[in-house]
Amino acid sequence: MQIPKYAQHVPRSSLVRIVCRGACQVVRYAEVSKTPWSSAGPNMDMELSARCLVCGYTADDNYNWMRL
Ligand SMILES: [Zn+2]
Repeated sequence: MQIPKYAQHVPRSSLVRIVCRGACQVVRYAEVSKTPWSSAGPNMDMELSARCLVCGYTADDNYNWMRL
């Protein structure tokens, strides 16, 4: 899958796809706050988040993120 321009500056290991519930309201690429990260179970790590690379919306529902 081709990485859109707005996400190309982010290392691939830090990229995920999220459903942006901010301004976008669509699936967007986002940058995770740290790697590696785990999608197992509820997010117990309060520092782990993914920021939409288009509008800046921050998601913490890591069980919904899609790895590339
Ligand atoms: Zn967004």
